Amino acid sequence: MGFDPVSEAKRIEKEIIAWRRDFHMHPELKYEEERTSGIVEEHLREWGYRIKRVGTGIIADIGEGEKTIALRADMDALPVQEENDVPYKSRVPGKMHACGHDAHTAMLLGTAKIIPEHIDEFNGRVRLIFQPAEEGGNGAVKMIEGGALEGVDAVFGLHVWHDLPSGIIGITEGPFMAGAGIFKARIIGKGGHGASPHQTVDPIPIAAETILALQTIASRNVSPIETGVVSITAVHAGTTFNVIPEEVEMKGTIRFFKHEIGELIQRRMGEILEGVTKAHGASYELSIEELVPPTVNDGSMTEFARKVAEKYGLKHGDVEPTMGAEDFAFYLQKVPGTFLTLGIYNEEKGIIYPHHHPRFDVDEDVLHLGTAMEVALVREFLR
Ligand SMILES: [Zn+2]
Ligand SMILES: [Zn+2]
Repeated sequence: MGFDPVSEAKRIEKEIIAWRRDFHMHPELKYEEERTSGIVEEHLREWGYRIKRVGTGIIADIGEGEKTIALRADMDALPVQEENDVPYKSRVPGKMHACGHDAHTAMLLGTAKIIPEHIDEFNGRVRLIFQPAEEGGNGAVKMIEGGALEGVDAVFGLHVWHDLPSGIIGITEGPFMAGAGIFKARIIGKGGHGASPHQTVDPIPIAAETILALQTIASRNVSPIETGVVSITAVHAGTTFNVIPEEVEMKGTIRFFKHEIGELIQRRMGEILEGVTKAHGASYELSIEELVPPTVNDGSMTEFARKVAEKYGLKHGDVEPTMGAEDFAFYLQKVPGTFLTLGIYNEEKGIIYPHHHPRFDVDEDVLHLGTAMEVALVREFLR
Protein backbone atom coordinates (compact mmCIF):
# COMPACT_ATOMS: atom_id res chain seq x y z
CA MET A 1 0.00 0.00 0.00
CA GLY A 2 1.03 3.55 -0.49
CA PHE A 3 3.39 5.41 -2.73
CA ASP A 4 7.13 5.80 -3.10
CA PRO A 5 8.42 9.31 -2.36
CA VAL A 6 11.60 8.71 -4.34
CA SER A 7 9.89 7.81 -7.62
CA GLU A 8 7.25 10.51 -7.08
CA ALA A 9 10.01 13.12 -6.72
CA LYS A 10 11.89 11.72 -9.72
CA ARG A 11 8.70 12.05 -11.77
CA ILE A 12 8.66 15.85 -11.26
CA GLU A 13 12.46 16.31 -11.38
CA LYS A 14 12.32 18.49 -14.50
CA GLU A 15 9.84 20.84 -12.85
CA ILE A 16 11.97 21.15 -9.71
CA ILE A 17 15.01 22.06 -11.82
CA ALA A 18 12.98 24.54 -13.89
CA TRP A 19 11.74 26.27 -10.72
CA ARG A 20 15.26 26.39 -9.35
CA ARG A 21 16.57 27.97 -12.55
CA ASP A 22 13.78 30.52 -12.60
CA PHE A 23 14.50 31.53 -8.98
CA HIS A 24 18.22 31.53 -9.76
CA MET A 25 17.77 33.95 -12.65
CA HIS A 26 15.69 36.31 -10.49
CA PRO A 27 17.41 36.52 -7.11
CA GLU A 28 15.94 38.74 -4.40
CA LEU A 29 17.70 39.92 -1.25
CA LYS A 30 16.43 39.53 2.30
CA TYR A 31 12.89 40.81 2.91
CA GLU A 32 12.53 41.66 -0.81
CA GLU A 33 11.36 38.18 -1.90
CA GLU A 34 8.23 39.54 -3.63
CA ARG A 35 8.52 37.74 -6.95
CA THR A 36 9.72 34.47 -5.44
CA SER A 37 7.02 34.30 -2.78
CA GLY A 38 4.41 35.37 -5.35
CA ILE A 39 5.24 32.37 -7.54
CA VAL A 40 5.29 30.04 -4.53
CA GLU A 41 1.93 31.33 -3.29
CA GLU A 42 0.30 30.95 -6.70
CA HIS A 43 1.30 27.27 -6.90
CA LEU A 44 0.31 26.57 -3.30
CA ARG A 45 -3.16 28.05 -3.85
CA GLU A 46 -3.61 26.02 -7.01
CA TRP A 47 -2.70 22.85 -5.08
CA GLY A 48 -5.19 23.55 -2.30
CA TYR A 49 -3.12 24.90 0.57
CA ARG A 50 -4.43 27.26 3.24
CA ILE A 51 -2.15 30.29 3.10
CA LYS A 52 -1.04 32.78 5.72
CA ARG A 53 1.24 35.58 4.64
CA VAL A 54 3.96 36.91 6.95
CA GLY A 55 5.44 39.75 4.89
CA THR A 56 7.33 38.07 2.05
CA GLY A 57 7.08 34.77 3.96
CA ILE A 58 4.40 32.11 3.58
CA ILE A 59 2.91 29.64 6.05
CA ALA A 60 0.94 27.00 4.12
CA ASP A 61 -1.13 24.20 5.66
CA ILE A 62 -2.80 21.16 4.20
CA GLY A 63 -4.57 18.22 5.82
CA GLU A 64 -6.08 17.77 9.27
CA GLY A 65 -5.28 15.68 12.30
CA GLU A 66 -3.63 15.61 15.66
CA LYS A 67 -0.05 15.67 14.47
CA THR A 68 1.63 18.45 12.51
CA ILE A 69 4.96 18.26 10.74
CA ALA A 70 6.59 21.45 9.47
CA LEU A 71 9.10 21.73 6.63
CA ARG A 72 11.02 24.93 6.04
CA ALA A 73 12.79 26.47 3.04
CA ASP A 74 14.51 29.85 2.88
CA MET A 75 14.11 32.01 -0.23
CA ASP A 76 16.61 34.90 -0.08
CA ALA A 77 19.68 35.55 -2.24
CA LEU A 78 22.97 37.36 -1.51
CA PRO A 79 24.55 40.63 -2.68
CA VAL A 80 27.12 38.75 -4.81
CA GLN A 81 27.89 39.26 -8.51
CA GLU A 82 27.58 35.87 -10.20
CA GLU A 83 30.63 34.70 -12.16
CA ASN A 84 29.19 31.45 -13.53
CA ASP A 85 28.69 31.26 -17.27
CA VAL A 86 25.51 29.20 -17.38
CA PRO A 87 22.22 29.66 -19.23
CA TYR A 88 20.41 30.24 -15.93
CA LYS A 89 22.89 32.88 -14.71
CA SER A 90 21.48 35.61 -12.46
CA ARG A 91 19.76 38.32 -14.51
CA VAL A 92 20.17 40.83 -11.70
CA PRO A 93 23.51 42.62 -11.40
CA GLY A 94 25.06 42.29 -7.95
CA LYS A 95 22.57 39.71 -6.71
CA MET A 96 22.93 35.95 -6.74
CA HIS A 97 21.59 32.78 -5.18
CA ALA A 98 25.06 31.92 -3.90
CA CYS A 99 23.92 29.85 -0.93
CA GLY A 100 21.43 27.56 -2.69
CA HIS A 101 18.20 28.96 -1.28
CA ASP A 102 16.80 28.86 -4.84
CA ALA A 103 17.22 25.07 -4.64
CA HIS A 104 15.61 24.92 -1.19
CA THR A 105 12.55 26.79 -2.44
CA ALA A 106 12.32 24.60 -5.56
CA MET A 107 12.70 21.35 -3.60
CA LEU A 108 10.01 22.32 -1.09
CA LEU A 109 7.76 23.41 -3.94
CA GLY A 110 8.24 19.90 -5.37
CA THR A 111 7.24 18.48 -2.00
CA ALA A 112 4.25 20.84 -1.93
CA LYS A 113 3.08 19.46 -5.26
CA ILE A 114 3.34 15.79 -4.23
CA ILE A 115 1.71 16.06 -0.77
CA PRO A 116 -1.88 16.94 -1.88
CA GLU A 117 -1.91 14.00 -4.31
CA HIS A 118 -1.58 11.67 -1.31
CA ILE A 119 -3.25 13.68 1.41
CA ASP A 120 -5.73 10.88 2.22
CA GLU A 121 -2.80 8.65 3.15
CA PHE A 122 -1.55 11.04 5.84
CA ASN A 123 -2.77 11.06 9.38
CA GLY A 124 -2.24 14.71 10.26
CA ARG A 125 -1.38 18.13 8.98
CA VAL A 126 1.53 19.31 6.86
CA ARG A 127 2.84 22.84 7.28
CA LEU A 128 5.24 24.38 4.79
CA ILE A 129 7.24 27.41 5.84
CA PHE A 130 8.72 29.51 3.04
CA GLN A 131 10.91 31.91 4.92
CA PRO A 132 12.49 35.23 3.94
CA ALA A 133 15.82 36.67 5.03
CA GLU A 134 17.91 33.79 6.34
CA GLU A 135 21.11 35.63 5.38
CA GLY A 136 21.62 37.94 8.32
CA GLY A 137 17.96 38.95 8.57
CA ASN A 138 16.67 36.40 11.10
CA GLY A 139 13.61 35.79 8.95
CA ALA A 140 12.96 32.72 11.11
CA VAL A 141 12.12 34.97 14.06
CA LYS A 142 9.54 36.87 11.99
CA MET A 143 7.96 33.60 10.84
CA ILE A 144 7.76 32.28 14.41
CA GLU A 145 6.20 35.57 15.54
CA GLY A 146 3.75 35.13 12.65
CA GLY A 147 2.65 31.75 14.03
CA ALA A 148 4.78 29.37 11.95
CA LEU A 149 5.27 26.96 14.85
CA GLU A 150 1.80 27.08 16.39
CA GLY A 151 0.58 23.52 16.81
CA VAL A 152 3.74 22.06 15.25
CA ASP A 153 5.14 18.80 16.69
CA ALA A 154 8.31 18.51 14.61
CA VAL A 155 10.22 20.76 12.24
CA PHE A 156 12.71 19.88 9.50
CA GLY A 157 14.93 22.03 7.31
CA LEU A 158 17.15 21.06 4.41
CA HIS A 159 20.24 22.89 3.11
CA VAL A 160 22.23 22.00 0.00
CA TRP A 161 25.77 21.30 1.16
CA HIS A 162 29.14 21.93 -0.47
CA ASP A 163 31.01 19.71 2.00
CA LEU A 164 29.14 16.55 0.99
CA PRO A 165 29.39 14.54 -2.23
CA SER A 166 26.45 14.98 -4.55
CA GLY A 167 23.33 13.05 -3.60
CA ILE A 168 24.26 12.20 0.00
CA ILE A 169 21.88 13.37 2.71
CA GLY A 170 23.73 14.65 5.76
CA ILE A 171 22.19 13.73 9.09
CA THR A 172 23.93 14.84 12.28
CA GLU A 173 22.75 14.72 15.87
CA GLY A 174 23.42 17.47 18.42
CA PRO A 175 25.17 20.81 17.84
CA PHE A 176 25.53 21.20 14.08
CA MET A 177 25.99 24.89 13.34
CA ALA A 178 27.41 27.54 15.60
CA GLY A 179 25.76 30.25 17.59
CA ALA A 180 26.95 33.67 16.48
CA GLY A 181 27.17 37.13 17.92
CA ILE A 182 28.70 40.41 16.86
CA PHE A 183 30.38 42.95 19.07
CA LYS A 184 31.55 46.54 19.06
CA ALA A 185 34.09 47.83 21.57
CA ARG A 186 35.46 51.31 22.17
CA ILE A 187 38.58 52.01 24.17
CA ILE A 188 38.48 55.58 25.35
CA GLY A 189 41.71 57.28 26.34
CA LYS A 190 42.87 60.89 26.17
CA GLY A 191 44.28 62.29 22.96
CA GLY A 192 47.16 64.68 22.50
CA HIS A 193 50.40 65.45 20.70
CA GLY A 194 52.30 62.52 19.23
CA ALA A 195 55.49 63.89 20.74
CA SER A 196 54.08 64.01 24.29
CA PRO A 197 52.58 60.61 25.05
CA HIS A 198 53.06 61.15 28.80
CA GLN A 199 50.38 63.83 28.68
CA THR A 200 47.86 61.48 27.07
CA VAL A 201 46.18 58.16 27.72
CA ASP A 202 47.11 56.58 24.40
CA PRO A 203 44.33 54.13 23.47
CA ILE A 204 46.38 52.44 20.73
CA PRO A 205 48.76 50.33 22.85
CA ILE A 206 45.81 49.61 25.16
CA ALA A 207 43.86 48.32 22.16
CA ALA A 208 46.85 46.21 21.09
CA GLU A 209 47.05 44.65 24.53
CA THR A 210 43.29 44.08 24.57
CA ILE A 211 43.30 42.38 21.16
CA LEU A 212 46.00 39.93 22.26
CA ALA A 213 44.31 39.32 25.61
CA LEU A 214 40.98 38.58 23.85
CA GLN A 215 42.73 35.76 22.00
CA THR A 216 43.31 34.02 25.33
CA ILE A 217 39.56 33.45 25.68
CA ALA A 218 39.65 30.72 23.03
CA SER A 219 43.11 29.45 23.99
CA ARG A 220 42.99 29.71 27.82
CA ASN A 221 39.37 29.99 29.01
CA VAL A 222 37.33 27.74 26.73
CA SER A 223 37.95 24.09 27.60
CA PRO A 224 40.24 22.43 25.02
CA ILE A 225 37.51 19.92 24.13
CA GLU A 226 34.94 22.65 23.49
CA THR A 227 34.79 25.16 20.66
CA GLY A 228 34.73 28.93 20.67
CA VAL A 229 35.85 31.69 18.34
CA VAL A 230 36.60 35.35 19.02
CA SER A 231 37.59 37.24 15.87
CA ILE A 232 38.38 40.94 15.84
CA THR A 233 37.62 41.92 12.27
CA ALA A 234 37.90 45.70 12.28
CA VAL A 235 40.08 48.18 14.17
CA HIS A 236 39.78 51.91 13.63
CA ALA A 237 41.69 54.78 15.24
CA GLY A 238 43.50 57.96 14.48
CA THR A 239 43.79 60.24 11.49
CA THR A 240 47.37 61.39 11.07
CA PHE A 241 51.10 61.10 12.00
CA ASN A 242 51.46 63.30 15.02
CA VAL A 243 48.18 63.10 16.89
CA ILE A 244 47.42 60.51 19.54
CA PRO A 245 43.71 59.76 19.09
CA GLU A 246 41.07 59.84 21.80
CA GLU A 247 39.77 56.36 21.15
CA VAL A 248 39.99 53.08 19.26
CA GLU A 249 36.93 51.32 17.90
CA MET A 250 36.92 47.58 17.28
CA LYS A 251 34.39 45.19 15.78
CA GLY A 252 34.23 41.44 15.51
CA THR A 253 32.29 38.22 15.81
CA ILE A 254 32.00 35.40 18.32
CA ARG A 255 30.99 31.78 17.58
CA PHE A 256 30.13 28.90 19.86
CA PHE A 257 28.27 25.58 19.90
CA LYS A 258 27.02 25.64 23.45
CA HIS A 259 25.07 28.33 25.21
CA GLU A 260 27.41 28.16 28.25
CA ILE A 261 30.42 28.78 26.03
CA GLY A 262 28.70 31.78 24.47
CA GLU A 263 28.12 33.17 27.95
CA LEU A 264 31.69 32.46 29.02
CA ILE A 265 33.05 34.30 25.97
CA GLN A 266 30.85 37.33 26.63
CA ARG A 267 31.75 37.45 30.34
CA ARG A 268 35.50 37.17 29.67
CA MET A 269 35.36 39.87 26.98
CA GLY A 270 33.91 42.26 29.53
CA GLU A 271 36.44 41.31 32.21
CA ILE A 272 39.41 41.70 29.85
CA LEU A 273 38.28 45.08 28.56
CA GLU A 274 37.61 46.29 32.07
CA GLY A 275 40.94 45.03 33.46
CA VAL A 276 43.22 46.16 30.66
CA THR A 277 41.68 49.62 30.29
CA LYS A 278 41.67 50.17 34.07
CA ALA A 279 45.36 49.23 34.31
CA HIS A 280 46.12 52.13 31.94
CA GLY A 281 43.64 54.68 33.19
CA ALA A 282 41.37 54.39 30.17
CA SER A 283 37.72 53.43 29.95
CA TYR A 284 35.70 51.27 27.57
CA GLU A 285 32.30 50.53 26.09
CA LEU A 286 31.31 47.07 24.93
CA SER A 287 28.14 45.94 23.22
CA ILE A 288 27.58 42.34 22.22
CA GLU A 289 24.58 41.35 20.19
CA GLU A 290 23.71 37.66 20.11
CA LEU A 291 22.46 37.10 16.57
CA VAL A 292 21.72 33.44 16.25
CA PRO A 293 21.76 30.64 18.80
CA PRO A 294 23.55 27.36 17.99
CA THR A 295 21.65 24.97 15.69
CA VAL A 296 21.19 21.88 17.84
CA ASN A 297 19.59 18.85 16.20
CA ASP A 298 17.23 16.90 18.43
CA GLY A 299 18.39 13.34 19.16
CA SER A 300 15.16 11.46 18.53
CA MET A 301 14.16 13.51 15.46
CA THR A 302 17.62 13.00 13.97
CA GLU A 303 17.29 9.27 14.58
CA PHE A 304 13.83 9.39 12.98
CA ALA A 305 15.27 11.12 9.89
CA ARG A 306 18.03 8.51 9.64
CA LYS A 307 15.49 5.68 9.76
CA VAL A 308 13.39 7.41 7.09
CA ALA A 309 16.42 7.77 4.79
CA GLU A 310 17.29 4.11 5.32
CA LYS A 311 13.75 2.90 4.69
CA TYR A 312 13.56 4.67 1.32
CA GLY A 313 17.08 3.80 0.24
CA LEU A 314 18.30 7.40 0.33
CA LYS A 315 22.08 7.54 0.72
CA HIS A 316 23.07 9.35 3.88
CA GLY A 317 26.03 10.08 6.10
CA ASP A 318 27.33 12.14 8.98
CA VAL A 319 28.35 15.74 8.35
CA GLU A 320 31.00 17.63 10.26
CA PRO A 321 29.58 20.51 12.29
CA THR A 322 30.52 23.98 11.01
CA MET A 323 31.14 27.35 12.67
CA GLY A 324 28.72 28.95 10.21
CA ALA A 325 25.38 30.00 11.66
CA GLU A 326 21.78 29.35 10.55
CA ASP A 327 18.59 30.97 11.76
CA PHE A 328 16.90 27.53 11.64
CA ALA A 329 18.30 27.43 15.18
CA PHE A 330 15.32 29.56 16.32
CA TYR A 331 12.82 26.89 15.21
CA LEU A 332 14.83 24.19 16.99
CA GLN A 333 14.77 26.21 20.22
CA LYS A 334 10.97 25.86 20.24
CA VAL A 335 10.14 22.55 18.56
CA PRO A 336 12.13 19.30 18.24
CA GLY A 337 13.51 18.70 14.80
CA THR A 338 16.65 18.41 12.76
CA PHE A 339 18.48 20.42 10.12
CA LEU A 340 19.42 18.15 7.24
CA THR A 341 21.83 18.72 4.39
CA LEU A 342 21.97 17.49 0.80
CA GLY A 343 25.37 17.05 -0.85
CA ILE A 344 25.71 19.00 -4.11
CA TYR A 345 29.52 18.87 -4.57
CA ASN A 346 30.46 17.34 -7.92
CA GLU A 347 34.03 17.67 -9.22
CA GLU A 348 33.26 16.15 -12.63
CA LYS A 349 30.69 18.87 -13.27
CA GLY A 350 32.95 21.59 -11.89
CA ILE A 351 30.63 22.22 -8.96
CA ILE A 352 33.42 22.83 -6.50
CA TYR A 353 32.95 26.35 -5.17
CA PRO A 354 31.83 26.94 -1.58
CA HIS A 355 28.67 28.67 -0.41
CA HIS A 356 28.65 32.46 -0.94
CA HIS A 357 31.32 32.19 -3.69
CA PRO A 358 30.54 34.02 -6.99
CA ARG A 359 30.88 30.66 -8.76
CA PHE A 360 28.79 28.62 -6.32
CA ASP A 361 26.43 26.21 -8.06
CA VAL A 362 24.47 23.08 -7.18
CA ASP A 363 24.32 19.68 -8.85
CA GLU A 364 20.74 19.90 -10.10
CA ASP A 365 20.56 16.17 -10.81
CA VAL A 366 20.19 15.43 -7.09
CA LEU A 367 17.58 18.03 -6.17
CA HIS A 368 14.76 15.50 -6.50
CA LEU A 369 16.42 13.54 -3.68
CA GLY A 370 15.85 16.52 -1.38
CA THR A 371 12.19 16.53 -2.32
CA ALA A 372 12.06 12.74 -1.85
CA MET A 373 13.49 13.06 1.65
CA GLU A 374 10.99 15.78 2.60
CA VAL A 375 8.03 13.78 1.31
CA ALA A 376 9.33 10.64 3.04
CA LEU A 377 9.60 12.53 6.35
CA VAL A 378 5.95 13.60 6.00
CA ARG A 379 4.81 10.12 5.07
CA GLU A 380 6.55 8.47 8.02
CA PHE A 381 5.73 11.18 10.58
CA LEU A 382 2.02 11.19 9.71
CA ARG A 383 1.51 7.40 9.80
ZN1 LIG B 1 24.38 31.42 3.27
ZN1 LIG C 1 22.04 29.20 3.37
